Amino acid sequence: MVGFAKNSVAYERAREALIWNQRLHDARSPERIVEARSTRDVVEAVEFARLNGLKVSVRGSGHDYQASALRDGGVLIDLGPLDGISIDAEKRQAWVGAGAKGGALLEALSDHGLAFPVGHCPDVALSGYLLGGGFGWNFGEWGPACLSVTEIEVVTAAGEILRANEDSHPDVFWAARGAGSGFFAVVTRYRLKLYPLPKCVHVLSATFPLERVPAIADWLDTATLAADSKVEITCIAGSVPQVSGPGVHLQVVATGDDDAEVRNRLTPFRDRPAAVDRAGAFEEKPMGFADLPQLSAMPSGKRMAGDYLWTDASPGELLRAAQPVAEGPSIATISIFSPGGDGCDAPDPGLFGCALSVGCGASAGIYALWDDPADDEAHLAWVSGADAALAPHRKGRYVGETDLTAGPERVEDCFAPACLDRLRALRERYDPEDRFFSFLT
Ligand SMILES: Cc1cc2nc3c(=O)[nH]c(=O)nc-3n(C[C@H](O)[C@H](O)[C@H](O)COP(=O)(O)OP(=O)(O)OC[C@H]3O[C@@H](n4cnc5c(N)ncnc54)[C@H](O)[C@@H]3O)c2cc1C
Repeated sequence: MVGFAKNSVAYERAREALIWNQRLHDARSPERIVEARSTRDVVEAVEFARLNGLKVSVRGSGHDYQASALRDGGVLIDLGPLDGISIDAEKRQAWVGAGAKGGALLEALSDHGLAFPVGHCPDVALSGYLLGGGFGWNFGEWGPACLSVTEIEVVTAAGEILRANEDSHPDVFWAARGAGSGFFAVVTRYRLKLYPLPKCVHVLSATFPLERVPAIADWLDTATLAADSKVEITCIAGSVPQVSGPGVHLQVVATGDDDAEVRNRLTPFRDRPAAVDRAGAFEEKPMGFADLPQLSAMPSGKRMAGDYLWTDASPGELLRAAQPVAEGPSIATISIFSPGGDGCDAPDPGLFGCALSVGCGASAGIYALWDDPADDEAHLAWVSGADAALAPHRKGRYVGETDLTAGPERVEDCFAPACLDRLRALRERYDPEDRFFSFLT
């Protein structure tokens, strides 16, 4: 077990590299940072914390927007080095270390003609992504990624190593699929169900000036409604690089095995009135499935603030609500995500049979990225203003991307009430001494 004590040079160097959001990389100070290279290291770190009366925080790749892995006091266990990937192509399954990144997994799988619904940005670790639910590529077909987790290895607050699945420790397995930063143990490895690599991907994209929102919102709704539920629609309003000045960037991804069928899925977006056609610049291109994360629009090395909401509003309604606030400072965008069809209706709470219990229709991410600390206040104000503008459409929040520090009551929006009660009861049972830091609220 490699550990660094506070105030040492090695500690500062390690802390510097832990957190993706540069606004928060030194916001809090654990007593000790431990780099886990094995499950045994995690056990030792948890035991060290217990013997010294310290709390424990867990870091996968530090991508949580609020840096919830970084806490004041306690032992931070960094699972980054636990990034092994072991693929059983015949059984279509893989054991993946918590620190493995989505992009690396997708690349390794594509060599075997296999795939998994990894997150949209390649550098996010499976660790916290799967724990929060995981809404990734081809979500319309494969669903939230945590539903393709078939088993986990965890280290409990008592330092015990458990294998949890539907039959063994099913309550721990239930919680690890959706609890996010409210989980009460350390997941060291995930066993994943894999899918055949889609043979064809077609991407239709279009850009418009922001003032054309009224002209495109109705068309967007008509096309979305007519589209297949497997089509993934992203509509970004704000400072999109494709437009000089504030704009709208639409991206529609269709995936499958038959080229003609996949192209056909984009038909509703080719059928557009002349006013819409004139307003935008349209493009269509084929892509490889493993290359999809290249479309990600979130640069690293920036200061960041963000928030997220689930909604039953249509993409067009959200776009209209976003337009007045979309013109933000620096890189500031409202990203509307929707499956095709009538996918905007949120499913019944508790539908998934795991802690993930809210969401899955349309959603909106509010993202601001910038460089200068002097601009912090303006960007934080923009994010909360955009959240307020979209509030009338909000039906819930996503634990993986919501700013829980903006109000402790927001945790209630992330889970169906019965699921949150069960999560809290399990936490008391598996972590009676409150060893693990919980939601950062
Ligand atoms: C650029 C970017 C792109 C993103 N894209 C997507 C996306 O496409 N889809 C999506 O659903 N989300 C996305 N997210 C959100 C992301 O999934 C969450 O922020 C997730 O928590 C990141 O995982 P992590 O391992 O880096 O978490 P960390 O920041 O390392 O940890 C966050 C918290 O999760 C808990 N945790 C993490 N790992 C473990 C573990 N192994 N055991 C126990 N507890 C643990 C801890 O409580 C920790 O405090 C994105 C985030 C960023 C910054």
